[in-house]
Amino acid sequence: MSCLDLWSDANAKKAIIKYKDEGINEDLAIRTYSARLLGSDPELVLHGGGNTSVKTITQNIFGEIVPVLCVKGSGWDLETIEPEGHPAIDLEALKALRKIATLSDEEMVSIQRSNLINPNSPNPSVETLLHAFLPHKFVDHTHSIALLALADQPDAEVVCRKIYGDRVVIVPYVMPGFDLAKAAANAYELATKDNKKDNSEIEGMILLKHGLFSFGKSGKESYKRMIGLVKEAEKALPTKIELNLKSKKVYIDNNSSAEIYLPFIRGLIGRVASKYGYSNKWIFEIRSNKEIVEFINSSNLKELAKRGVATPDHVIRTKVRPWVIDSIEQTIKSKGQSNQIKNWFLSLEISLKQYVKEYIEYFESNNKRFNGNKKQLDPIPRLIAFPGIGLIGIGRTKKAASIAADIGQVWLTTIRSAESLGEYRPVNSSDCFDLEYWSLEQAKLGKSKEKSLAGNIVLVTGAGGIIGSSIAKEFSRQGAEIVALDINGDAAQQTAKACGKYAFSIQCDLTVPSEVKEAFKLIKLNFGGIDIIVSNAGSALPGNISSMEQSILDRSIAINLYSHNYVAQQAVKIFKEQDYSEEEKQYIIGGQILFNISKQAINPGPGFGSYGISKSALLSLMKQYAIEEGEFKIRCNGINADRIRSGLLNDQMIRSRSIARGLSEEEYMQGNLLKTEVKAEDVAKAFVALSKMSKTTGALITIDGGNPAAMVR
Ligand code: ZN
Repeated sequence: MSCLDLWSDANAKKAIIKYKDEGINEDLAIRTYSARLLGSDPELVLHGGGNTSVKTITQNIFGEIVPVLCVKGSGWDLETIEPEGHPAIDLEALKALRKIATLSDEEMVSIQRSNLINPNSPNPSVETLLHAFLPHKFVDHTHSIALLALADQPDAEVVCRKIYGDRVVIVPYVMPGFDLAKAAANAYELATKDNKKDNSEIEGMILLKHGLFSFGKSGKESYKRMIGLVKEAEKALPTKIELNLKSKKVYIDNNSSAEIYLPFIRGLIGRVASKYGYSNKWIFEIRSNKEIVEFINSSNLKELAKRGVATPDHVIRTKVRPWVIDSIEQTIKSKGQSNQIKNWFLSLEISLKQYVKEYIEYFESNNKRFNGNKKQLDPIPRLIAFPGIGLIGIGRTKKAASIAADIGQVWLTTIRSAESLGEYRPVNSSDCFDLEYWSLEQAKLGKSKEKSLAGNIVLVTGAGGIIGSSIAKEFSRQGAEIVALDINGDAAQQTAKACGKYAFSIQCDLTVPSEVKEAFKLIKLNFGGIDIIVSNAGSALPGNISSMEQSILDRSIAINLYSHNYVAQQAVKIFKEQDYSEEEKQYIIGGQILFNISKQAINPGPGFGSYGISKSALLSLMKQYAIEEGEFKIRCNGINADRIRSGLLNDQMIRSRSIARGLSEEEYMQGNLLKTEVKAEDVAKAFVALSKMSKTTGALITIDGGNPAAMVR
């Protein structure tokens, strides 16, 4: 899609009125409005990329009016920015820095911070001084794909001059920071002097192999210039830009079953990461559409992938280059039909080792320039180009994997456009290193501590019910990625929604093996594999066993026993694929199956024979899996909960049971040794605790407040 001019005078006015009520002046209101317009177009900026500013005035603590630069603060995204996302800094103090010959990053950050009008503001952008040194009131900066397709050409300066004439200033590549700010200001002044042009005639500035600046005396002028310059770039490109970030539906031709290979890749990455001392759990985000598949099938993919990122800003999200792997079809072509998976996996192992080796070499050779002072980051790729399936983003969270996938799509779209015009030759790897290992860039990734279950993909069955949804939410709070599965699709969706933007829901009847298989296919396509199963779905069908219709007993066993086995079988298959061909025991990742059993398995009650019998069998099933799969580090445990308010024990049942026993409802619910009601959240916390007990398998934990009859003997 081509870039759209979204400016509306009416909406700009509305923004002024809206923010005026919050005490925001007109300049900052317009700044917020047009920054959001830029942020809404992923072909211009993405995930905290780009930055914007306005020069205005404000009142300081002494009540004096001071000229300030309001510039994007780190941690803010242009798409959702608010006025406080452009913190105000004393403009004269910033401008004075131009006289200094050199300034370290630390000095730059601390001077910027010490001149903030509000000391509680976020750190101003790393490109603050560039904004400050330019004379214009409004300055906009994007990493437009169309512009990068021009600016990443080997003869970019000639190409850009031909299109824009002397309406733009062209600055050769310099790393962001103080030096770039000075180089840009000098280039701007030289251009106005040489061309005898004044401020109003130069529309923007192209930073070669980096991005585009536009500026103007009003927010509207600067924004319109940005869109105009980008549109001219689009016109010059023979290939239309098709980003389609939102079309996340996996595009696989009907005969392909490439998704079955995803767990092999996920496991290999995890185990290699753990061999280097990092976590063995990583999340995938798979993207596929016509453009991606065409690109990944191009014959020179491996060579293109080595050329690097479209703009250095991307390197912290995707590393310098993606990992390009062979499809199974390619392996068959070169090695023949026999031992297909083994041969393919072997080539995968060799290729990942090579990727890691090259990353370490890249680090070590570049680190020499810093006297060995940099500390190596993990060598794990953040993007995979997988023929037959598409592009895979990798991260420790689904969010990070999605960001990597978005940036990956921008990367390949830039290459397609650049190659259609000439040649894609972006910034070289040593310049990329400087940015990847720049503390100010790493700061953008945030320093918050990882949650304890980060990287784990957890499936909760029966997630639409009270207990299931509590379990899903508790695992989500601990940082796990959630798949909420239920026979009631709406209820599953609601639980997923409560677990955040990246949780996933599946509607599935677990008593139908083909549906279970399909559910696991969806899990692989959405996350790459699985780590923990909470096999929770169940149903209590009442009736005395002596007169029970066979169909009720059959149904009860289908739900409370067989369905758990269908799920466990699929899970074990994936766990073993993730650990395929691992010979060193300590690196086996394994997996977990946690069953929600019931006290009925130990202490049956009258009238619930079909439930108790099937749950007893489920207890045996848990033990059987624990015995057979222990050597593969697959842990299987169960929880016996009792008397929890849920779909199985609803308010009406509580009422009738308490009346039958001559107790108040409260007494009935607290009828245990601890004299306290046990809640769904208690069961959820127990499942999470059990999942962390790394040396426990075949165990049964009771969550019932204490009940001698249900104690495990
Ligand atoms: Zn930039």
